Amino acid sequence: MELKELLKELTDVSGASGHEYEAAKVAVKHFEPFSDEVSIDKLGSAIALKHGDQVGEERKKILLAAHLDEIGLMVTKIEDGGFLRITSVGGVDITILPGQAVTVLGKEQLKGVIGAKPPHLQAPDESGKPIQMDDLYVDTGRTKDELTDIVEIGTLVRIESEFTELSNGFISAMAMDDRSGVAVLVEALCRLKERKHEWDVYAIATAQEEVSGLGAITTAFRLQPDVAIAIDVTFGDGPGMPERRVSPLGKGPSIGLGPNFHPKITQKLRDLASEYEIPHQVEADPYPGGTDAYSLQVSRAGIPAGLVSIPLRNMHSTVETLKLEDVKRCAELLSIFISRLDSKFQEDLKCF
Ligand SMILES: [Zn+2]
Repeated sequence: MELKELLKELTDVSGASGHEYEAAKVAVKHFEPFSDEVSIDKLGSAIALKHGDQVGEERKKILLAAHLDEIGLMVTKIEDGGFLRITSVGGVDITILPGQAVTVLGKEQLKGVIGAKPPHLQAPDESGKPIQMDDLYVDTGRTKDELTDIVEIGTLVRIESEFTELSNGFISAMAMDDRSGVAVLVEALCRLKERKHEWDVYAIATAQEEVSGLGAITTAFRLQPDVAIAIDVTFGDGPGMPERRVSPLGKGPSIGLGPNFHPKITQKLRDLASEYEIPHQVEADPYPGGTDAYSLQVSRAGIPAGLVSIPLRNMHSTVETLKLEDVKRCAELLSIFISRLDSKFQEDLKCF
């Protein structure tokens, strides 16, 4: 399948943290043609296993993790008049919410819009103040009575967005963070069909990264990989963005450097990217956390971990924008990395 179509399918399906099952089914469908086994675990992570051609009992494993969950909204109250009060699941940017179209994922799916008091009617002390979640409501057009059997406290609300192809290979959609990482998993597995590799590969679309890192924690504990790499998104360039904190779109995947990442893994990723002439960039990340890489690194007695990120504009919005070429390069780099894993590399991980 073409990468653009794959991204569309992956981003079209809802899957707020803790409610990833439908998205997991889509991930598994795309893992399946390139894997020996696929499954969805009881917490909602989608798992693919592709065997390497090593022989013997003690099999070496690499785990790749890209998170499946997306940020979303949840109903907290149904008010008289049928207005739904909401809270966020994960780090939703409240400033993007007023005026959004949504789907209320009740027993029946309902179209809705997010409303707020118009500026004309705001009291002098209200105008100019940053909008709060309490200022917002979802209007479905239905009365409270009509909603009784359809919506309850805890019902999820998905912010609608249109998958949009911009010029020059740029694509914009909700949930590119981190379904684009899941697309990298699919693409990397696909490329490994053509590339010999010794180690077994576990590709995991992890549940609940946005709220707790749960899927990476539980799958790393169960599978005990020898090496683990998280694939996520990072801040792309754009007007007003601090230059030192961004990885420009179109310049390739960004390799994380810092205490969260094993220096031999980052070095090998950089060396292979140079050897194979894959455009790439590096990103200083001195404080561990913020991605599945940390959950992987601290599993059990510790797992050598790495992070490869796709540059993304407008993170945690409905117009998360990336460049297709960066996704492809990320998958290419990972498939080469996996094909070059051997016992020497594993020994090297102990020599600093
Ligand atoms: Zn993410």
